[in-house]
Order: sequence, then C-alpha cells, then structure tokens
Amino acid sequence: MKIAPTTSTSPIRFALPDIGEAEIAAVVEVLRSGWITTGPKTKEFEDAFGRAVGASHTVMVSSCTAALHLALEALGVRAGDEVILPTMTFASTAAVVVHLGATPVLVDVRASDHTIDPSAIEAAWTPRTRVVIPVHFGGLPCDMDEILSIARARDLRVVDDAAHCFPAKYRGRSVGTLADISCFSFYAIKTITTGEGGAAVTANEEWAARMRKMSLHGLSGAAWKRYLDGGRWYYEIEDPGYKYNMTDIQSALGLVQLQRAHELLDRRRHIAELYDAAFRKYEAFELPARLSDRDHAHHLYVLKLRPGVLRFGRDEFIAELARAGVGASVHFIPLHLHPYYRGRFGYEPDDFPTALQLYERSISLPIYSRMTGEEIDRVIEVVTGLAQSRA
Ligand SMILES: *Cc1c(COP(=O)(O)O)cnc(C)c1O
Repeated sequence: MKIAPTTSTSPIRFALPDIGEAEIAAVVEVLRSGWITTGPKTKEFEDAFGRAVGASHTVMVSSCTAALHLALEALGVRAGDEVILPTMTFASTAAVVVHLGATPVLVDVRASDHTIDPSAIEAAWTPRTRVVIPVHFGGLPCDMDEILSIARARDLRVVDDAAHCFPAKYRGRSVGTLADISCFSFYAIKTITTGEGGAAVTANEEWAARMRKMSLHGLSGAAWKRYLDGGRWYYEIEDPGYKYNMTDIQSALGLVQLQRAHELLDRRRHIAELYDAAFRKYEAFELPARLSDRDHAHHLYVLKLRPGVLRFGRDEFIAELARAGVGASVHFIPLHLHPYYRGRFGYEPDDFPTALQLYERSISLPIYSRMTGEEIDRVIEVVTGLAQSRA
C-alpha cells in the first residue's frame, strides 16, 4: 500500500515555475480569441518589457538562445570571426557562435562572483575578435563598466547573456541598457517565464529591425500583420531567416509574470537572506557574492564548499541532499570540460583553473517564489546538519 507523503516530508524540488490564476486566465483568453501566434499580445509584451528594462527596442523570440543567435547575426558575426565568452555558462552562449561559423573563444571567470574575468578578455583578444558575451551569473550583473571600457578600446561589440538577470541593476542602470544588445530568457524556471521564450533588447534601431526580420523567415515589413483586417497578403523574402517568433499565448503569460516580477524577486531575495544568515556561521561554506553597487536578480543561490573543511566532496554533498529530499543542481559544468569543446578546440580541464575549481565546489540550492517557509527551513536544516555531522 502506498501512503501519500505529507507536505512536510515530500521532496523539495530544485526549481518550480510560479504560475497563478491570473496567468491561466490570460492564456485562456488568448486561446479563445482566435489569434494564438505572434500578434497584438506579443506587441504589448514587447512594449511592457522594453519599458521595464528601459530599452528602446525589444524583439520577443522563442528563447534566449534564439535571442543570442539573432543578436550575433545582426552584429554581422560570421565565419572567421572570434567571440569571447566565459567557460562558466550554459550551452547556448557558445553554440550560437558555432552556428554562425565563428569561433567561440572561452576564457576564465573570477572566483569572487563567477563572471567573466575582464583581464582574460584582454588576453584573449585578437584582431579577429568581434564580440564579447558577458554572462550575468546567477542574477548578479557583471562588472560592465570595466568590460565596456575594454570592449570600446578594441572596437568590440558587447552582447550580454542576461538569461539569469531580470530584473537587475548595475550602478543604478538597468540590465538591458548596458550592452549593445541584451538577451533575456523566459524559460520555465527562469526569474519570469513564458514556458519557453526570450527577448533581445537594444537601443539600436537597425539591429532591432534586423533581429525582428530574421526572427520571422526574413520577410519584409511586419509580416505577421498580413493576416490582420486590412493586412496585405504580399510579402518578400529578403533573407533566409529563422523561425524564432514568440506566440501570443506565451506573451499573455509573460505580461502577467512581468507585472509580478518584483513580487517574485522579493520572495527570492528573502530566501537568499535567510540562507546567507544561516550558512554564514559555517567554515565549510563560502557564500555567494553580494556587491553594494548591484541589484541581484537572485536566479540562483550557489553555495561553495571550502576545500579541506568537510571530509567529503560536492558530489557526496548533493547525494546527501537528495537522500534528505532536497533538490540541488550545479551551475555550470564549464563548457571546456564538454566533449564537443574539448574535441573541436582542444581544451584541457586545467586551461581555466578558476572555473574548474568553482565547478568542483559549487552547489545550487532551491530558490524560487513558491517555496514555503517550512521548505526554506528544511533546506537550511539539512544543509547545516550536513556541515555539522560530517565535519
Ligand atoms: C537558460 C540559459 C540560456 C538559454 O535560455 P533559453 O531561453 O532556454 O534558450 C542561456 N544562457 C544562460 C546562462 C542560461 O542559463
């Protein structure tokens, strides 16, 4: 006989989206409207998101990966070009470079906050370098002033991978206004979600127009409007574009999530503060960076094990968490450790020692708005219990 677990002992998931009745109602309304793909809701979501980040142009697309691809394409990245990016990131940041026939040049990150090391950008630069892609790791903005000054001095474009970083600020400026083009993710477990989705934002009208066109088959004009009342049936294919548009179903969901963005952030920040206060007391733990000139989006809470304090390592720590019903993850397995990047570009694990060490010591703990107070307490109890019992 199977007994349904009580709430207090059921496993705590690593991440969960926070979808309320308002989101469900908004999606149902679109489903009933007769217009379910790119249309008026997507235009509304673009305007609202652009206002939220302070960007003049917003192109909603099917994912952050699509946004990154379109951004590099709009900047003219092509075969023979090099694009510098941190090895400590997700698959997408580098894959889109490969898709354009260009070379992803991986560099190391800073131990303090897991973001791209500005001095490594200078060291990796060659006359073929066209773009640098800083990744706002976990929701903490990179040191953009330093990165921008290095980039400007070398005529490099900056595309920030802001998949973790909405809403957030760097020195009072909103992430989304710092780089040439910024790419956001609305994947299921990102800070706001449309199920799958992303946005590319920029102050440059020409790049925005190029990204919009290439996101929908490379068609002329506002192609989706051809099915509106009074719309024209005629179109021209100006370039071999992609199929990266966002649907109105996604946008309806996104509009509600956007209104809730600060409510959701407040909840994640609260969890981060409780974790910081609880874990600070243990020598075994190194806490995530908190910088006074940046507002964190708190997408991830990455706790690091201090080497040599516990008698067991990160993998065993995560296995113990799982045994106690606490979901955890690791961000990220550095790109240079993966078979494709090792095989194609000849990277060795020691090429980026800081990223390698961070990877071996990092544990991402659950941090999402739907966590109950009881669940937060349980994570703290299990994590601190492990530090005490196994020291
Ligand atoms: C999630 C993520 C992406 C990709 O986002 P999608 O919307 O799933 O394409 C890109 N970069 C980073 C750092 C991410 O975490």
